[in-house]
Amino acid sequence: MASPAAAQARKVLRDLVLRPPLLAARSQAVQLTPRRWLNLQEYQSKKLMSDHGVRVQRFYVADTAKEALEAAKKLNAKEFVLKAQILAGGRGKGVFSSGLKGGVHLTKDPQVVGQLAKQMIGYNLATKQTPKEGVKVNKVMVAEALDISRETYLAILMDRSCNGPVLVGSPQGGVDIEEVAASNPELIFKEQIDIMEGIKDSQAQRMAENLGFLGPLKNQAADQIKKLYNLFLKIDATQVEVNPFGETPEGQVVCFDAKINFDDNAEFRQKDIFAMDDKSENEPIENEAAKYDLKYIGLDGNIACFVNGAGLAMATCDIIFLNGGKPANFLDLGGGVKEAQVYQAFKLLTADPKVEAILVNIFGGIVNCAIIANGITKACRELELKVPLVVRLEGTNVHEAQNILNNSGLLITSAVDLEDAAKKSVASVAKK
Ligand code: GDP
Ligand code: MN
Repeated sequence: MASPAAAQARKVLRDLVLRPPLLAARSQAVQLTPRRWLNLQEYQSKKLMSDHGVRVQRFYVADTAKEALEAAKKLNAKEFVLKAQILAGGRGKGVFSSGLKGGVHLTKDPQVVGQLAKQMIGYNLATKQTPKEGVKVNKVMVAEALDISRETYLAILMDRSCNGPVLVGSPQGGVDIEEVAASNPELIFKEQIDIMEGIKDSQAQRMAENLGFLGPLKNQAADQIKKLYNLFLKIDATQVEVNPFGETPEGQVVCFDAKINFDDNAEFRQKDIFAMDDKSENEPIENEAAKYDLKYIGLDGNIACFVNGAGLAMATCDIIFLNGGKPANFLDLGGGVKEAQVYQAFKLLTADPKVEAILVNIFGGIVNCAIIANGITKACRELELKVPLVVRLEGTNVHEAQNILNNSGLLITSAVDLEDAAKKSVASVAKK
């Protein structure tokens, strides 16, 4: 089980990952799309929602075009919506490697469901939120399509600045919510929820009203919002996002899309949910790192960073940029470190062919620096390290650690502080 420190680190790292504008300012080339928290496919999220009384469309999941056709026949609906299942959003406007445009299609003909599914399954779908080459589609959802008369946005997030859950909504849903936030911030509404008291009727009603639900739809929307909040709590979610949270001409409030993220710390009490994680969209290297309780984030520079804690990861990231370099990746060691983990960490870091230098930046608080130093020297010898290695260690047992490194006979560059370490690692790459 992950330690609280490691969990905190992940949270901060996740925030780092979720700060694309800031990162874009740092470097156009930086693309961060790793998964730090369990993140389910739409069909899995919708199953949880429907189990908790939240209204979603009837649907089936299919792995093949033939199954998709069968699903459409079984649904026996007036119209169908076929949706590629990948973790990224923006599917509606995505493009498949098969040439098919759009990861969400409406049709009245079951045969067309089959034909479209054939151009989805097994191909990559690229959207605004995926890497350029897209993400492979293994499954599609075939659902009963409903007419939508209005699309709103609704999310429930665990928000640090609010010290708890917050409802976020906008009557301007369906589209890119970040754009709305930028161009029409007055159309984004928030309700902070006291986690001890739970969501108040007045809050759910106010949000429903702010989202523009009128007449009987207002109560219905408020009821759905409360059910979504109860779901959020019960399943230990960090985020439940519904976009569009829509209404139909028949007067029903429906969750047309669903994105749920979970708190990794809750794995012990959410075993069924975590068992749904198929990890197929994880980078293999992330899965490999997770085996050793290490957190890996791939970037596209050339300096591998070995750190402990998210704060140091961010500081390291910033300072490398400030000195004109680019991180290739981050490996976060977390708290209770063993020598073998250090060895595995080096193995993972150097497996990336882009890596031209390694920067170790470890602060020994809980961690004993001597253990790190022993791990480093062992890894250098056994892996026959071929790239420059810059090490900055600070904290518990640092003198013994320095002795171990200095007496190792290995080509290791010591750094006195983070600035020095960044300069030396950037220089070692520039020299090449
Ligand atoms: P995303 O693009 O990945 O966010 O996928 P969504 O599930 O949100 O679908 C994209 C868009 O397709 C939505 O914003 C809707 O406008 C449309 N859409 C999805 N399901 C339905 C449906 O059942 N009926 C209609 N009319 N439109 C739908
Ligand atoms: Mn959506």
